[in-house]
Amino acid sequence: MSTDHSAKVQRDAEGRLRHLITLDGLSRDEIVALLDLAQFYARTPGELAARDQTLAGHTVANLFFEPSTRTRVSFELAAQRLGADVVNLDMQSSSRVKGETVLDTIYTLQAMQADILVMRDAEPGLPAYVAKYVAPHVCILNAGEAHLSHPTQGLLDALTVRQTKGDFAKLKILIAGDLSHSRVARSAWHAFTTLGVAELRIAAPEDLMPGKDEFKGATRFTDIDKAISGVDVVMTLRIQRERMSGASIPDEATYHHTFGITADRLAKANKDAIVMHPGPMNRDVEIASAVADGPQSVIQRQVTNGVAVRMAVLATIARNVQARRHFQ
Ligand code: ASP
Repeated sequence: MSTDHSAKVQRDAEGRLRHLITLDGLSRDEIVALLDLAQFYARTPGELAARDQTLAGHTVANLFFEPSTRTRVSFELAAQRLGADVVNLDMQSSSRVKGETVLDTIYTLQAMQADILVMRDAEPGLPAYVAKYVAPHVCILNAGEAHLSHPTQGLLDALTVRQTKGDFAKLKILIAGDLSHSRVARSAWHAFTTLGVAELRIAAPEDLMPGKDEFKGATRFTDIDKAISGVDVVMTLRIQRERMSGASIPDEATYHHTFGITADRLAKANKDAIVMHPGPMNRDVEIASAVADGPQSVIQRQVTNGVAVRMAVLATIARNVQARRHFQ
């Protein structure tokens, strides 16, 4: 299912966001509004977390059919900090779940008045499919859809870049690594291009480079040393072994040598460049440990921003539900 289809499905009759399935089709103003609200909720570790009752009376259900640490926990904390009831369903131990079975689970949750359903699944198109069947007051938030889309990750990455590097129109950003399997890269591409980044570069070994119909407008590199030179932001990606078949899995040591973000390579970027990684990291494979823990790394800040962004998305979606109720 195309992201174009998801872009339509996620809006209500008035064009408001009813679900969040993809960043495709979100305007610059919509993304900026979400980032501004996330900034309002953002606190640094050590400060007390932001809290309000925006989601009082709502029930958020987390349905993760693929593993997750950061995304699931941050959706849970975000919902709790906005006053919602939260339930977490452990779906991973169940056998591979197909559309109809997922719908049955969802109807069950709906019947218990869960009204915001956060979903992660390996099947492309599942969030948009489910969104068509849920009751009018129920919202679907995509927490990772196959290799296609991870909208809240794209937003938290954009927030992190905005906080640390400022104006997108002045920035050169590199997204590097296993691009062909990365939903993070696809959502980041949507966010960065919509926000008007000056130059977006993508770099991957030949085998992991997506087709030309994707990442339009980005400059493509297969040589990481050329790609990294002079950039302000280096976003590196995990090798997604779970989406590869045996023969195509790269050897870790060779990958690190030819494509990993090492201190020597990072020295070719701008002096004050930041380094990002969505996690979980394969240390000393796509990123050297010294870089991940080094002074240019903003990886922990990305995690902190994940909670703020998810609070902003939950609050925005709940406000749109209220607006619809008001006019019905
Ligand atoms: N956590 C991110 C995702 O779910 C990145 C990764 O798994 O590599 O896509």
